[in-house]
Amino acid sequence: MKAITQRSLKVNPQFASAVKAAACRALDYLAPQRCVYCDQLSHTSEAVCEVCRDALCPNDAPCPRCGVPGVDDHLCPACLKQPPLLHSITAPYEYDAALAYFMHRWKYLGEQRLSLTAAKLMLKEPIYIEKVEYWLATPLHWRRELRRGFNQSEDLLRALSALAPSIKATPAKLARLSRRRATGSQAHATRRERLSNLKGAFRVHGNVQGRTIGIVDDVCTTAATGNAMAETLLDAGAAEVHLYCLARTPAR
Ligand SMILES: [Zn+2]
Ligand SMILES: [Zn+2]
Repeated sequence: MKAITQRSLKVNPQFASAVKAAACRALDYLAPQRCVYCDQLSHTSEAVCEVCRDALCPNDAPCPRCGVPGVDDHLCPACLKQPPLLHSITAPYEYDAALAYFMHRWKYLGEQRLSLTAAKLMLKEPIYIEKVEYWLATPLHWRRELRRGFNQSEDLLRALSALAPSIKATPAKLARLSRRRATGSQAHATRRERLSNLKGAFRVHGNVQGRTIGIVDDVCTTAATGNAMAETLLDAGAAEVHLYCLARTPAR
């Protein structure tokens, strides 16, 4: 009886993927997605059509350490002067007006469906993730999360986990980050203000001793938040901390 049940539950993978593709096509037909940029039907399960996706600005030749665009794949002057605590920052797109508009709709207009589109955009190139052991999301302060209704970084990590077998969100009981206090926007603060705002802002839960950590975030502007998380994790014994996000701000 057990053997029959196991055999009957065994589904041919090709059949399963054909059923899934047909279901996706039916869903696209019944509830078509509109592109966030041109408002045309995207004809895919994504909320950015192919034409508008190809018009986004890729992060070409970034600094291998901090990910700032356009430095011929060499260490940028800032990293040569003082390497950041983060061992690497990976971002496939430049954070320009088009990506800022996408982020605005995703985070501030509460379009949670864009989490999956963000993950698909992020995986347009395979992410080099040789040795990450723990995948954590950038935490939001609880008050901000309550106001927004969701944490976009957690959503993004969940979507990445579903799409890429090499990325698996670490269960919260093993390890997670939390934010002790709200820090506000860091974009217009001076370097000194950023560092003092973020001092002690994060807390590590669980044991990260000797682990290589990958943190997922939506965007990296000044990298101050990422480096503050890295400092907290390294103080707790982590071996390396890498940041993965959708977009990176060019050097100022
Ligand atoms: Zn479009
Ligand atoms: Zn750099």
